[in-house]
Amino acid sequence: MYGRRRYYGSRRREETGRYLRTAMVVLAVICIIVVCVTMALQTTKASQVAAAEPAEQEAAALIDEKNVMYIAQAATAGPVIMATEAVNRTKTQERQVIVIDPGHGGIDGGCVFENVLEKDINREIAWSVTKKLRNMGYQVVLVRQGDDYVDKMDRVEKANQENALLYVSIHQNSCEVSSVTGIETWYDENDDTGSSKRLAQLIQQETVKATGAVGRELVSDTELCVLNKSDMPACLVETGFLSNKQERDKLCTEEYREQVAEGIVQGIVLYMN
Ligand code: ZN
Repeated sequence: MYGRRRYYGSRRREETGRYLRTAMVVLAVICIIVVCVTMALQTTKASQVAAAEPAEQEAAALIDEKNVMYIAQAATAGPVIMATEAVNRTKTQERQVIVIDPGHGGIDGGCVFENVLEKDINREIAWSVTKKLRNMGYQVVLVRQGDDYVDKMDRVEKANQENALLYVSIHQNSCEVSSVTGIETWYDENDDTGSSKRLAQLIQQETVKATGAVGRELVSDTELCVLNKSDMPACLVETGFLSNKQERDKLCTEEYREQVAEGIVQGIVLYMN
């Protein structure tokens, strides 16, 4: 009896020892797996961060190759956030546009003579100006695309939101005296920098040169909403008198409207340069 008990006793110890060894092996394997997974996760995260930095710098370089200063500053400063700021600043600069405003539209036809509506002439000239400027590489935003009514304040607000470089509104004139003809350009007298006056002068000068029309006057005004509420240099050009039959007939031809548009474009280009 005693001998069998000893036999069973040593067998239990052996079994217990085997369980303990197995448990230790399992624990060791679990520990190794946990360590490996943690290391793998850290490596993936690090490679993602490393990849993000050059990608952002590359994007910034693509947006504006000339803007080397911002990228260089960001690179020496190190943090990715600096590169992101540089990209955003560059984007803001790139978003600066020329805003062209075809006067009136929709229910507001402007002045009307012999079924010729001012809003239509304005839109045609504005489209031509826009196409010419875009072909030259400028970014242009039209305040209205089609025959839409857009409130005056909304027009200016759009230009302000676009952070526009300049704002040019295109209109046609009318007068009780039907013999009056010519081009006149309005600007905001309150613009202390003189930029609006300079823009108006150049557009007036170049439009008169391109069309051979009578060069009337530069008119300073503090009341016109599209001029005094804009954050950028702005002017309003009245490219002809619809109340004068000869000038109205000319404005109804594509050839003359192209000349007017060319003059406005040349004025803008001279101002920009
Ligand atoms: Zn008008």
